[in-house]
Amino acid sequence: MFSSSRMHVWTSRSGSHPPQPASPQGGKTARDPICGMFVSTELSHRLTRGTETLHFCSRECLEHYQKDAAHVAS
Ligand SMILES: [Zn+2]
Repeated sequence: MFSSSRMHVWTSRSGSHPPQPASPQGGKTARDPICGMFVSTELSHRLTRGTETLHFCSRECLEHYQKDAAHVAS
């Protein structure tokens, strides 16, 4: 017989947290325009363009954006 309690294996395990998107823990988060993931504004790689500040998860994303911007800029 199947026990219904087996269906609660995910919630009954308090040791491992369930899969879910990273949530802000006190700090602010911003969306990486390159890869789309949310990064902490305190830990992000920042790029200031005029009045706005962009946040990237890594230097690779930042450089990727700068390359794209170079093509767009005229
Ligand atoms: Zn990224």
